[in-house]
Amino acid sequence: MTGLAQAPMREPLQRRLARLAARTIRTRTVRAHPHAPLVSFTFDDIPDSAAERGAAILEGAGVRGTFYIAGSLVGAVEPIRRLAGREQCRDLHRRGHEIGCHTFSHQAVSDLGRTALAEDIARNARFLGEIDPGIAPANFAYPFNTTSLRAKRQLESHFATCRGGVPGINAGRIDPGFLRAVELADCCIDAAAVRSWIARAVEARGWLVFFSHGISERPEPWGCHPDLLRAAVAEARRQGASVVTMREALRQVLGDDRATAS
Ligand SMILES: [Zn+2]
Repeated sequence: MTGLAQAPMREPLQRRLARLAARTIRTRTVRAHPHAPLVSFTFDDIPDSAAERGAAILEGAGVRGTFYIAGSLVGAVEPIRRLAGREQCRDLHRRGHEIGCHTFSHQAVSDLGRTALAEDIARNARFLGEIDPGIAPANFAYPFNTTSLRAKRQLESHFATCRGGVPGINAGRIDPGFLRAVELADCCIDAAAVRSWIARAVEARGWLVFFSHGISERPEPWGCHPDLLRAAVAEARRQGASVVTMREALRQVLGDDRATAS
């Protein structure tokens, strides 16, 4: 889960200010090179329905997605969802999807000190590397879409990109340490709004990142119906956008091969 809806109702003022600063202060920006309009589909945590239905929908359209995995959630069974197991994570990687880091502990990174955060992401890298030695996450998504300036600086020095959950198009001068992203969930977006976001990305020749969780006919509160995901993929292609992983999108945005493989 990454939706802001899951954030604590009453946060201390200091933490609210840290969150606000991290969302608004651009610590390290890059100017995007000219590129085709890009749309990336990403999934957090990840529920087994994302690994199965979600991945199958992308593959049916001949494209791939980015799956941000938190090691501590792999194989977990929660009251309203099952999380993908090791085999499903390995399969995703071997089928050409990108595996990203979502911390190991799935804690808000603003709650972890510098050493604890470094140990946490190293632990996740070890965990994922044990699933398949070819998995080496280069891109990150903030659990609960929340961070602090300190954690952002630490993570943006470690990962090629860090994805947040503030809606927007990444275009012009972009902030790789806090990429804008639009939640693709039945609770908060419909097909018309999806079309509109894609149109904005195409017009700006920018990079639109969608994020979701489970993909099923009866999704969890922050999940998405398969029809909506299918429609979003089709719409992106209909409007002329390239549907690519975060890794590939970043390569095009940077105009070179600095983005490392995972
Ligand atoms: Zn999450």
